[in-house]
Amino acid sequence: MLQQRSIWTAAATTTCPGAQSGKRHPGRYPPKGRNIHDNRAHPIRDLHTEEGHAVRAMYLEAGVVDVAAETGDTALLASSITRWEDMVATKTYLTGGNGSRHSDEAFGDRYELPPDRAYNETCAAIASFQWSWRLLLATGQPRYADLMERVLYNAFGASVSTDGQRFFYVNPLQRRHDHVEGDEPGRRHEWFSCACCPPNIMRFLASLQHYLATTDGDALYLQQYTGAQISTPLAAGTLGVAVSADFPWSGEVTVRVTQAPARPCGLAIRVPSWSSEPRLQINGTPAEASRTDRGYLLVHRQWQSGDVLAWTFDVAPRWAFPHPRIDAVRGCAAIERGPLVYCFEQADQEPGTDLADLALLGGTPLADRPATLPGIGRTVVVEVSAAAMGAGSPEGLPYTAQPPDTAQPPAGPGGVRRLTATAVPYFQWDNRDGRAMRVWLPSAG
Ligand SMILES: [Zn+2]
Repeated sequence: MLQQRSIWTAAATTTCPGAQSGKRHPGRYPPKGRNIHDNRAHPIRDLHTEEGHAVRAMYLEAGVVDVAAETGDTALLASSITRWEDMVATKTYLTGGNGSRHSDEAFGDRYELPPDRAYNETCAAIASFQWSWRLLLATGQPRYADLMERVLYNAFGASVSTDGQRFFYVNPLQRRHDHVEGDEPGRRHEWFSCACCPPNIMRFLASLQHYLATTDGDALYLQQYTGAQISTPLAAGTLGVAVSADFPWSGEVTVRVTQAPARPCGLAIRVPSWSSEPRLQINGTPAEASRTDRGYLLVHRQWQSGDVLAWTFDVAPRWAFPHPRIDAVRGCAAIERGPLVYCFEQADQEPGTDLADLALLGGTPLADRPATLPGIGRTVVVEVSAAAMGAGSPEGLPYTAQPPDTAQPPAGPGGVRRLTATAVPYFQWDNRDGRAMRVWLPSAG
């Protein structure tokens, strides 16, 4: 049975030891004498953007929302929401990861989001998830669950190897063939001398069932889609459902009522930002759901035990392009499918093709197909038209007086070659030969 928490009663049930004991921090954090780059140098209410150590900053934000919910401090809650919005808009990687600086494990400037130098500590993904969860409970807005989903399937999902034995501390969006840092090639480790991430991963996975659904009045809201048994008291009585889903591979989600209240009540779902309006069948018959003012799809009726709702989301692969101010990936494109961010690994590319020379023909059709890959297992790959630029290694300085004739289809005299590039889900990368990986590739379209 899942522990259910109400959107509107969370403030009454959320605890904050500091607030209860009256021990408030003295207005500045960290205390005088601490490294200001390691955390915050200003009163939290004055901050409009995230700065300093990414993990600690977001843990602090989770506490800020707890205090705001417990004390009814709407201004404090609003300040946290302002920083969340700024972080999402300017300091978040496509994977949902945060922290673009290895130095101090910190947030960078706005739009400072280099794919190769991304820090994106696994603990930061967990901290982001925990902050968004509290904002979801405090406001009922599905955008927080949207970010939780992005973080879960990508920034966090990539932290563990397929066999569950190795972990990433740092989660970049690009690794070159010859990458070396600190005498190591940047692959997952079995353990770390500073071992915050592996136990945090275990703690997070062990608590994942608490983040799947919420309640509000007489309705149950499904926020994330995976197999689950949920039983929760509503105003109408106890509602029990069994959820089965094949996320992220397909968009099919089935909700079967296992215990129906004596009176009508609501079953609502979050529509992910990447999906068009999902199709709904109730007991095999096409049905309609109503949109709530927050954007959830709600079915309110007298349920019978055994009723089945079948939802179908659109998980077709799609393009992603970066904001023009993100200098590091300007002119690049990436691919997503359902909740998954994709990446290109050298292992999947055509023989004789160097991933470093690939450019995507952005805007061309994307094709997906199920596959089983050695080291990875079950997956869905996405294939896209690309061009191999044939740049090779330069002689002398790697700069020229004229723009290079690269990746401008059709093939030109510079040796541009058309081919098919193959992408795999980012969370499954680095389970094979350890060679190059890129989420973003130059877009020639
Ligand atoms: Zn960590």
